[in-house]
Amino acid sequence: HLSERLKTVASYVPLNSRMADIGSDHAYLPVYLAKNNKISYAIAGEVAKGPLENAEHEITLEHLDGVILPRLADGLDAINLSDNINCITIAGMGGTLIRDILERGKNKLNGKEKLILQPNVGELVLRMWLMNNYYKITNEDIIREDGHTYEIIVAEKVDSMVLYDKDELQFGPFLLRAKSQTFVDKWHNEQLRMREVINQMNQAKKHRPIDRINAIEDKISKIDEVLKSER
Ligand code: SAM
Repeated sequence: HLSERLKTVASYVPLNSRMADIGSDHAYLPVYLAKNNKISYAIAGEVAKGPLENAEHEITLEHLDGVILPRLADGLDAINLSDNINCITIAGMGGTLIRDILERGKNKLNGKEKLILQPNVGELVLRMWLMNNYYKITNEDIIREDGHTYEIIVAEKVDSMVLYDKDELQFGPFLLRAKSQTFVDKWHNEQLRMREVINQMNQAKKHRPIDRINAIEDKISKIDEVLKSER
């Protein structure tokens, strides 16, 4: 009964990796991977007691005690050096929170782990952090489920900075080139939302906020440009 969203995240977890799922809640992701014999070691990190209990419950229910280790900790503090983690998943939260978890947990990163991140929003700040911290985006995906669009970003540490331009940071270097229907629909929806905001602003009786309206118009044109571009 795993969601399409988490199934997609799972599909990027390398076979037999030692993973840490941060913000694991019910631990559905590592449980699914362990049940399907894709992994035999995982940490399910949780900062909150309730969700940690959910994880413990699920792990015991599926007879995965000792395979998936629930740990109460803030962010990457759930990881010990001796765990030899080589894959970190962080899914189902805002990009800014994921960025903060990575930034605060820098000392726990050995540079060898694959990061599989699924921000619900705030992809731009997350990609900026990855670029500035010498991560290369090695894959991306976008899916739609239950009326929400989700992006998945896979990244690995590299020796020299891989530069992404503004469009790549905002739209995603892989997503931008693939231009899947889901991607096009997401950005058409964004444009619709922006036009609604402009309509509201135009109804202001006095002082139409012309500068703000122009700024949004620019964003709408930018999306048109990106959706039409050949790269
Ligand atoms: N990863 C699961 C998923 O994608 O379905 C659960 C997502 S749930 C919406 C977000 C979880 O992240 C919550 O259970 C919350 O307690 C946890 N969380 C938030 N901040 C955290 C942090 N700094 N460290 C560990 N867990 C955190």
